Amino acid sequence: MQSSKGKGKVIIISSPSGGGKTTICHKLLRKNKQWKFSVSCTTRQKRKGEKNGREYIFVDRPEFIGLRRQGFFAESARVHLHYYGTPCGPLDKVVNKGGVILLDVDVKGAASIKKKYPQSLSIFILPPSKAELKRRLKRRGTETKAQLDVRLNNAIAEMEQHNRFDYIIINKDINEAAAAADHMIKSWTVGVTHFGRNKSKAYSVYK
Ligand code: 5GP
Repeated sequence: MQSSKGKGKVIIISSPSGGGKTTICHKLLRKNKQWKFSVSCTTRQKRKGEKNGREYIFVDRPEFIGLRRQGFFAESARVHLHYYGTPCGPLDKVVNKGGVILLDVDVKGAASIKKKYPQSLSIFILPPSKAELKRRLKRRGTETKAQLDVRLNNAIAEMEQHNRFDYIIINKDINEAAAAADHMIKSWTVGVTHFGRNKSKAYSVYK
């Protein structure tokens, strides 16, 4: 497993369910055709319109557990009621050979990836308010009432973790939020770095 220093750029995009990260990832990938998307494995059911190998690689639980045991995943987590895992292969390929890869993962996944790839960029997409988040989740209509409750409770817990990320985007307008993410990623890939108050760290690259 390649760790911090590599040629490629790892971009972590996270948000609570309904925060808008999937739509933002689609917009970024449509605009930047050379960027890759890390297709995760999941044990959840395929939704209408999803295609195996495109949004996710759909596997059953024993298969997932087998893959995890073989070290197939860079990280894996139980999210809501299912398992999700980021395959190492495509991620390491980009890190070693160059390019940009986007990861759409939950907060736990984001923390694990950041630990393994400290030079990754992490962006957290926040819905403008809890009430708006609730509205968006309901409008999506992909979950039963019980599943929706699980997602809502998890979302609120995840939102508390926003300050662990390099950048936060408040998603009031999806196009503006996607444009902001695009600028952030491009600035960062050409070397613009933010170290918060720890500016001395920025100088350390010249030593
Ligand atoms: P959904 O089932 O709505 O597609 O995704 C549920 C949650 O799982 C989202 O927060 C999504 O970002 C997260 N997720 C998707 N793939 C992975 C993964 O490989 N690892 C982790 N930790 N979370 C993931």
